[in-house]
Amino acid sequence: MDQQSPVFILIQIVLPIGVIFALVYKYVDFVTRTTHVVCPMCRSSFKLTKQAFAFSLKTGVMNERVVTCPACGHRGGMPVMKD
Ligand SMILES: [Zn+2]
Repeated sequence: MDQQSPVFILIQIVLPIGVIFALVYKYVDFVTRTTHVVCPMCRSSFKLTKQAFAFSLKTGVMNERVVTCPACGHRGGMPVMKD
């Protein structure tokens, strides 16, 4: 009886992936709720949506993301500030 059932193997694969997704979602949710982005061109500040944050590129600089400003349309690295 050392044969593992396919269901058990599936759970072993799916569970860690589910946990990782849940952690990433919680992190993104926390960051988007507690931070805002300031546009360097027009100085307007705006909040990122969860999707915008999750899919935005990092610039290599701490707390900076490549996003598009909803006010002036400028796209580039913008600092992510705490609220
Ligand atoms: Zn702007």
